[in-house]
Amino acid sequence: MAFKPANNIQDLQYFGEFGGVNPSISDSSTYTFLSAKTMFDTFEGNADGCYLYSRHSSPSNLYLGEALAAMEGTETANVSASGMGAITPTLMQLCDAGDHIVSSRTIYGGTYAFLKNFTPRFNIETSFVDITKLDVVEASITKNTKVIFCESVSNPLLEVADIKGLAEIAKRHNITLVVDNTFSPLSISPAKLGADIVIHSLTKFINGSSDTVGGVVCGTQEFIDALRNVNDGASMLLGSTMDSLRSASVLKNLRTLHIRMQQHSLNASYLAEKFEQDGLKTVYPGLASHPSHDLFKSMMNEKYGFGGMLTIDVGSLDKANELMEMMQKKNLGYLAVSLGFYKTLFSAPGSSTSSEIPEEEQEAMGLSDGLIRFSIGLDADIERTYQMMRECMESLNILKAEMV
Ligand code: PLP
Repeated sequence: MAFKPANNIQDLQYFGEFGGVNPSISDSSTYTFLSAKTMFDTFEGNADGCYLYSRHSSPSNLYLGEALAAMEGTETANVSASGMGAITPTLMQLCDAGDHIVSSRTIYGGTYAFLKNFTPRFNIETSFVDITKLDVVEASITKNTKVIFCESVSNPLLEVADIKGLAEIAKRHNITLVVDNTFSPLSISPAKLGADIVIHSLTKFINGSSDTVGGVVCGTQEFIDALRNVNDGASMLLGSTMDSLRSASVLKNLRTLHIRMQQHSLNASYLAEKFEQDGLKTVYPGLASHPSHDLFKSMMNEKYGFGGMLTIDVGSLDKANELMEMMQKKNLGYLAVSLGFYKTLFSAPGSSTSSEIPEEEQEAMGLSDGLIRFSIGLDADIERTYQMMRECMESLNILKAEMV
């Protein structure tokens, strides 16, 4: 591959105003103008390099946005106070009343709830489809469709979207492909595969320290300017702005993302292989048994691996809960939602992060009660982690006897 996502971050040069190796943090909500005319021009969007008000933009937010745009290979980016604060204004900006969205049916529960329950209030309807079936996606497009929405690797089922294939469909129908890349930063670069807009919940791998929520929309200058427009920009008017102190700290964490992703991927890949050998129903894009293993391979930036997320199915919610409680007691990770932490996190999505999705729909998409979603941590000794997890599973009779 010709592009080097992480190196593009390393290549950026931001000095602080006093020569600090980190840029100074902009600690102002508002900015002075030497002339009233420049203030007017800034409101009109015609005064490059001038800051108006921090809900619109701030130096710290721009630094973080530019680093993320460099990572994703887009012209620019806009950071927000949460991942939902990136997703919701993007979709509201792209759609008017009467418009239609085609979305993957396996997406984060909050995004699903927004599309299923909230946007219909504005007469924006969504068809939820199996995103791995390109013919089904295309057949769902109507004359009112404005957006195809998916996650590169879906939460929680780890379905993989064929971004090139979806981009071709989107182009043919003149609609916008929006990809949430939260589960696969660096491993997959959706914009380079044809996505128009790439979104992240920074809360997860990118920040990596589970100390804040945050989000970003990466796209063209034209689209990001539209989001920030003082008259009709959804980010500007809905107001989900990241605080400058926070964006400065996320930028510092971003610089080690390439190393962290490699370790998350190595550890997850080790555990996935072991769990599968033990006879557990294991889903991980790095396993040859994953239905989209070859597709992921064809899209990935190889050195970052297949990511840190895997799922196993232990048969029932009771068993899943018992196992998670035991693993937490043994300090193998935390029973917590979210992902991308240095410590392994595990949860049963059906009763937590995907609980917004009605039970019968969970069943139709293959989200079973006994599913445990793991965000694998940065453990220095993953063999030991595996042995201890295996002991927990054996003591709860989770491993099939003939396989052990
Ligand atoms: N996208 C994905 C794939 C997620 O997993 C999440 C949160 O879990 C979000 C978006 C929403 O992000 P946030 O919680 O930062 O608003």
